[in-house]
Amino acid sequence: MGKRGISLLRGIEAQTVYELLNKAYCDEWLAYYQYFIEAKVVKGLMKDAAIVELTQHAADELRHATMVCDRIIQLGGIPALHPAEWLTNCNCGYDAPSEPDVRKVLEQAIKGEQCAIGVYSNILDITRDKDIITYDLVSQILADEVEHEEDLQALFDDIEEFIQEFKK
Ligand code: MG
Ligand code: FE
Ligand code: FE
Repeated sequence: MGKRGISLLRGIEAQTVYELLNKAYCDEWLAYYQYFIEAKVVKGLMKDAAIVELTQHAADELRHATMVCDRIIQLGGIPALHPAEWLTNCNCGYDAPSEPDVRKVLEQAIKGEQCAIGVYSNILDITRDKDIITYDLVSQILADEVEHEEDLQALFDDIEEFIQEFKK
């Protein structure tokens, strides 16, 4: 743990921050896998557009896992070392795409993004003016999660609209 870097913390324990980050880290791995496998199994209307989006999001979640992991280590914490911890230590759980219809998959993914937005906005509240490095990092991730939710919802709405037009 770098001493000068850690001295930037103001009125917050490093442990408080890395424990929150470790939970988010578990969420990121689960989100990564959920998108990865959704992109493989998804079926139905406009599934090609969905596959492009889900694959991009999988890559983003893996990048988030890397960012969060590096910060946990900087703070002197130990990131989850075993995948079993992903499920036991996460905030948002894991939704297996057991119904691969594109709308169902998108609904599950939107729910996951909404949970992630809640998790990261909570970390921002806790670290604001106390840990500027984590605050800045989490702000960047949160912006991605907001974009993810928007992309998925827009695609979901397009599919719904297409179905409504078709029914006329
Ligand atoms: Mg996207
Ligand atoms: Fe993420
Ligand atoms: Fe996301």
